[in-house]
Amino acid sequence: MTVKVGVIGTGWIGAEHIRRITASVGGAEVVAATDIDADRAARAVEGTGARVLATGTDVVTDPEVDAVVVTSWGPAHAESVLEAVAEGKPVFCEKPLATTAEDAQRILDAEAAHGSRLVQVGFMRRFDTGYREMKEAITAGAIGTPLLAHCVHRNPTVPEAYHSEMASQDTAVHEVDVMRWLLDDEISSVQVIVPRSTTKRFEHLRDPQMLLFEMASGARVDLEVFVNCQYGYEIGCEVVGEEGTVRLPEPPGAVVRSAARQSTPVLQDWVKRFAAAFDAEFQAWVDEVAAGTPTTGPNAWDGYAAAVVTDALVRSLHGGGVVETGIKERPAFYA
Ligand code: NAP
Repeated sequence: MTVKVGVIGTGWIGAEHIRRITASVGGAEVVAATDIDADRAARAVEGTGARVLATGTDVVTDPEVDAVVVTSWGPAHAESVLEAVAEGKPVFCEKPLATTAEDAQRILDAEAAHGSRLVQVGFMRRFDTGYREMKEAITAGAIGTPLLAHCVHRNPTVPEAYHSEMASQDTAVHEVDVMRWLLDDEISSVQVIVPRSTTKRFEHLRDPQMLLFEMASGARVDLEVFVNCQYGYEIGCEVVGEEGTVRLPEPPGAVVRSAARQSTPVLQDWVKRFAAAFDAEFQAWVDEVAAGTPTTGPNAWDGYAAAVVTDALVRSLHGGGVVETGIKERPAFYA
């Protein structure tokens, strides 16, 4: 079966996913797309044979569309996901699943009413080879019980539109998901600490920020978010256990020795760092949609948990101090 996909939102990542589904992923084709700017949608599907439709609702309800990809801007995600669930169609939604915990809860309720899981959220790090190796080591007991973790998320620069809350909502949200997954644990409380800011930032932005997570088990995570570090894009993660540690491998790069120095290149963006993870994420999603089985990737519960935790991080950024996430027990539906 070829999975016929409809795409809502053909901006940067929507166009990239259309290219991915068309050229890199087997077993799927894009048959319809929409964007607020119809010309942008037409450019994104050029050469694919897909039709440009007027609205997201048209894409979701189109009889030819088997499954939906939501890549519009965050505040529009929940509405499209709810429409897809109402139609009983599998839906891949880029992060965030919803911009409020209330909207994410509506999606959980809708899926429960439908009776099976239809939603996958675009937390692609779970498909990155390095993170997968870390997960395998932790699950196999290679480091014993995890006690704490150190994480780093650095970007060379960000545009002026990037504001202080986005350090949690847009940037740290990836570590929120990946730490929940690696440690198989929920985040019970958070704290944002704002050190001295770099001068190399737009004035309104607090950068860097230090984020602390306490897991329900008592394990702790520290995360440095530094989005104007100047030198490159860097993702770091080390989990410390009772019997050892496991560290995310560095991306491979040739080692140059010259003029009495040894050097390796530093990546400049997340596109190259996670390209293979995006491909693997989409291939897994398409295969599961084709097989008619619920996703084993990040699901609506994971999207809900991320929304709850990022809400708490923003409250801590504004009010200071430790903020309880108040996350409820995971429903058996998402076990
Ligand atoms: P973008 O370039 O702004 O693209 C979003 C597109 O959706 C724009 O063309 C926008 O049109 C359109 N749009 C907004 N609301 C719509 C609606 N209701 N119906 C149809 N089209 C609509 O943003 P992006 O960088 O591609 O990001 C899109 C989403 O992917 C975001 O949620 C972002 O967080 C996520 N993302 C995830 C990753 C990751 O690492 N997994 C990486 C990048 C982005 P207008 O511009 O005219 O409003």
